[in-house]
Amino acid sequence: GYRSRAAYKLKQLDDLENVISGHDTVVDLGAAPGGWLQVAAEKVGPQGTVIGVDLQRIKDLEDETLNERVETIRGDMTEEKTRDRVTDAAGGSVDVVVSDMAPNMSGEYSLDQARSLYLARQAFETALELLESGGNFVVKVFEGPDVDDLRADIDDEFQYVRATAPKASREESSEIYLIGKGRLTAPVREGD
Ligand code: SAM
Repeated sequence: GYRSRAAYKLKQLDDLENVISGHDTVVDLGAAPGGWLQVAAEKVGPQGTVIGVDLQRIKDLEDETLNERVETIRGDMTEEKTRDRVTDAAGGSVDVVVSDMAPNMSGEYSLDQARSLYLARQAFETALELLESGGNFVVKVFEGPDVDDLRADIDDEFQYVRATAPKASREESSEIYLIGKGRLTAPVREGD
């Protein structure tokens, strides 16, 4: 079984927009406890790789076959040293960046929303650093001010952007997922 209900959200997002394909290298931000990792590891197949990052330790997947495709990093994605570790682990070519990162809830919506937006921005920057042209990006964000700006910024870098609230997350009605399909340009790396 899946480790989190969140797993079904990634399935729905992928059904909608074909985000992950066989052989892909996927970076999964905010990956604990690992539901999205399980789904992504299934979708990339035996030739694919999934790199999961979280503040929390992520336990190995119970399924050995899937676990062989997965690498995990414990760290804070708002810190450059963590982003550098992700870049090193990916080893150059990333096809998909997904982020389900969410802040610890304070209960004050405007604060939680601002923190969510900040995490989504970090994920977007990471995607711009890592994604090959043609690559896909999925990011969770809480609805509110400045989400339209984020959406427009994603739209500038991808063939198109789509916003959706998967059925599996409707009860937490404030969260939406932005999907950027088809990165327009590849990142410029040092040494290229
Ligand atoms: N997609 C996951 C799954 O399917 O199991 C669920 C992710 S959960 C909704 C959000 C995660 O984001 C939490 O595990 C949290 O620790 C992580 N997170 C929040 N801020 C983070 C940060 N700055 N860096 C890395 N992970 C972060």
